[in-house]
Amino acid sequence: MSMSNANPTKVVLASGNKGKLKELGAILGELAMEVHSQSEFAVVEAEETGLSFIENAILKARNAARQTGLPALADDSGLCVDALGGAPGIYSARYAGEQASDADNNAKLLQALATHTHRRAHFHCALAFVLHADDPAPVICEGVWEGEIVDQPQGDNGFGYDPLFYIPDLKCCSAQLPPEQKNQLSHRGQALSQLLPRLRRALQR
Ligand code: IMP
Repeated sequence: MSMSNANPTKVVLASGNKGKLKELGAILGELAMEVHSQSEFAVVEAEETGLSFIENAILKARNAARQTGLPALADDSGLCVDALGGAPGIYSARYAGEQASDADNNAKLLQALATHTHRRAHFHCALAFVLHADDPAPVICEGVWEGEIVDQPQGDNGFGYDPLFYIPDLKCCSAQLPPEQKNQLSHRGQALSQLLPRLRRALQR
């Protein structure tokens, strides 16, 4: 594959999330790449059997590439709390159970931290891009956003653990930040900003 292709190259995003599709579509559009959700191809979702964000991102990217025959991009993210050995980590979305809401997960986190004074935590985002299902050299970008877990939810923006994630430098929680500011600073924003130059190099090979 080369950057000089006149026609846009299709890429499958191993996620059905519309927000991510839009964000990644804008970035990959600069490389003449067209992003399509894996749901357009009726991809059967990968089993996330990895123990780390990056392992699961690679599993998801390979799964989407295998079922579509197209290059694929996947992301995996979550919250890691130091005092909990990195939990909820890769289980962030279903910390309080398979059907857990954000409020359930936040309540469980506060309960788990009730007796802890050490509150350091970080959000982590891993992105993996494969040219094909057996690509031995995936493009990998990771972003980390450092913060602390507060006792009371604060703010209405964002999603997930944002109301409990306090950024000392900004003296507020991530749910109190305007979306544009969060997108610039966040684990996902950091990983995405590395993606474009890294992909450009990979596609020149
Ligand atoms: P996913 O990578 O979109 O599946 O996200 C995994 C889970 O991690 C989400 O359901 C949230 O619970 C948590 N998470 C990931 N990124 C963020 C964030 O930016 N803010 C709050 N929670 C997040």
